Amino acid sequence: MKYAVLDRGDELSKQLTEKLHYLAGERHLQRDEKSPDVVVSIGGDGTMLHAFHMYQYRLESVCFVGIHTGHLGFYADWKASEIETLLDAMASPDTALHQRIVKYPLVETELVSVDGTETHLALNELTIKGLNATLVARLTINDEPFEMFRGDGICISSPSGSTAYNKSLGGAMVHPSLETIQIAEIASINNRVYRTLGSSLVLPKHHHCDIEPRKNQVLLVAKDHIPLQRNDLLSIRCRVSTRKVAFARYRPFPFWNRVRDAFIGSQID
Ligand code: NAP
Repeated sequence: MKYAVLDRGDELSKQLTEKLHYLAGERHLQRDEKSPDVVVSIGGDGTMLHAFHMYQYRLESVCFVGIHTGHLGFYADWKASEIETLLDAMASPDTALHQRIVKYPLVETELVSVDGTETHLALNELTIKGLNATLVARLTINDEPFEMFRGDGICISSPSGSTAYNKSLGGAMVHPSLETIQIAEIASINNRVYRTLGSSLVLPKHHHCDIEPRKNQVLLVAKDHIPLQRNDLLSIRCRVSTRKVAFARYRPFPFWNRVRDAFIGSQID
């Protein structure tokens, strides 16, 4: 078993990384930053987003696991105090990886400009905003005109990203076993002149949505909050990717329990 570690860079996460390498050595796990089987992210969900983008080029042969050094995360769901249990599970011949993997859908985006098309993947979401002014964009679903959007922006999230920015926008929590993308409005303008649906939309994997910004707008396009510097976009096509991200699950931690523990608290009586 080859592993790599990415940490958040704070003192606690760095110390835990050192401890992990030591414990991994004791268990004869092989450190390999270039072609790991498992990537361990130490920090928070933000650290997992970085790990995802760093190893995105080999999604088909790597799986991720997250340890949190702050609060419980959606991707970072192991506690620092459980590091030995985690390494025992990684090193154990009984925990054959293929039996312990869950795969989550991703958002795929094609950015179309006069120069061609760029494809990007997001683990949480893609956001499109106007930089200096309101975003004005035509939305087309499956090549049928849907609405003309005016407002701060649009957020297209994956099911696992539904608990992140999408949640702050009033979007629904979506179980990651559902192969969908969710389109949520960011402060749309609705009055007698401008009209949008006002609710978020959940599209299945065989549907696509095209967002065509009005010409000459300065846009702020970001995947997982990483800015993509493109101001010459003709359209942005969003759909569920055919690729998925794999997470190692060495023990059960159901999604709805994570939603409860993160947002409501485990004491409900
Ligand atoms: P950040 O400040 O590092 O992260 C913002 C918060 O979002 C952190 O508490 C982070 O958890 C949490 N988070 C990330 N992914 C999550 C997920 N799938 N489910 C639940 N919470 C999640 O922000 P950043 O690095 O610039 O952007 C990372 C992500 O933050 C973005 O992809 C976006 O989803 C989210 N974000 C949310 C808002 C908002 O809600 N208004 C605004 C901007 C960005 P950790 O502390 O564990 O890292």
